[in-house]
Amino acid sequence: MTNNVFLSLGSNLGDRMANLRLAVSLLYRQGYAVTTQSSGVYETAAWGDIPQPDFLNAVIQVETVLEPIALMEAVLAVERQMGRVRTQKWGPRTIDIDILFWGETVIATERLTVPHPYVQDRRFILKPLKEIAPDFMHPVLLQTIENLWSSCIDPLEVRGYSERL
Ligand code: ATP
Ligand code: CA
Ligand code: CA
Repeated sequence: MTNNVFLSLGSNLGDRMANLRLAVSLLYRQGYAVTTQSSGVYETAAWGDIPQPDFLNAVIQVETVLEPIALMEAVLAVERQMGRVRTQKWGPRTIDIDILFWGETVIATERLTVPHPYVQDRRFILKPLKEIAPDFMHPVLLQTIENLWSSCIDPLEVRGYSERL
């Protein structure tokens, strides 16, 4: 079992809080991943150029018996079960689950890139991640999450939300 597997969760359609919670619960109930730590929930304007509702985001640390590609498939299955439809890139969605890190492992295949290529560019990922793993070292950039946060130039404000997962 690999430690330091981190997933990001995001939702900006429907009952956003319920969507985040359902994603965690489906990953668990279907035997894909057990959450061992969860960040607070944050609200952020959408990233990219498409006008759309604000997102709720959180990061969880999980334990899984699956290999990375199998967890990727599982994550896509959960997104499908939750009614996610991919219409436009970076468009609105009921749920988005990304694999941020798999410990020190670096993966670069067509279906899976780990570490997630935009971790260092997104405050809505770094802020929740910093809460649960400030000293985790990005295995490619060789900087801690805390340092990546300090040098991140993403202008989007990340606001703490009133509820927890
Ligand atoms: P972004 O990658 O910028 O966050 P997105 O989450 O909106 O964009 P999706 O449409 O959800 O992109 O995913 C597109 C594809 O990315 C998925 O089908 C998946 O196979 C692939 N993918 C590659 N690496 C990862 C990863 N680390 N986590 C999640 N999906 C990944
Ligand atoms: Ca994403
Ligand atoms: Ca995604």
